[in-house]
Amino acid sequence: MSDCLFCRIIAGEIPSAKVFENDHVLGFKDLYPQAKEHYLFIHKSHSKNVNEMDSTQLSDIFSAIKEFTQNNDLEENGFRVVSNVNKHGGQTVFHTHFHVLGGEQLKHFGS
Ligand code: 5GP
Ligand code: ZN
Repeated sequence: MSDCLFCRIIAGEIPSAKVFENDHVLGFKDLYPQAKEHYLFIHKSHSKNVNEMDSTQLSDIFSAIKEFTQNNDLEENGFRVVSNVNKHGGQTVFHTHFHVLGGEQLKHFGS
């Protein structure tokens, strides 16, 4: 059994509210949402953070986010993609993930 929380979600050992899935990528609701809509997109192959991903994995992730956001109101109304890295970035789960936030007006950085 993996000791990585998100690998365990991918394996179905821990339940999640899935919103997107294909061969490479899983999208699911964040358990502690920071916006009206808050999803996490992860690659099915484990890496610790975005700097460890290769271009194919990055392409898989952003293609999935594009497909997902185009199929609901997120694209039209707008959304934000964030990936926290290590200590100063505030990363708490060390399986690379991309937060997709929207569903309401988000605060602008620095204001
Ligand atoms: P980070 O802080 O590493 O950028 O993001 C980790 C995210 O995972 C947090 O937003 C947190 O709410 C979310 N999270 C932590 N544990 C779980 C869980 O068991 N299930 C789901 N769906 N989200 C989780
Ligand atoms: Zn993992």
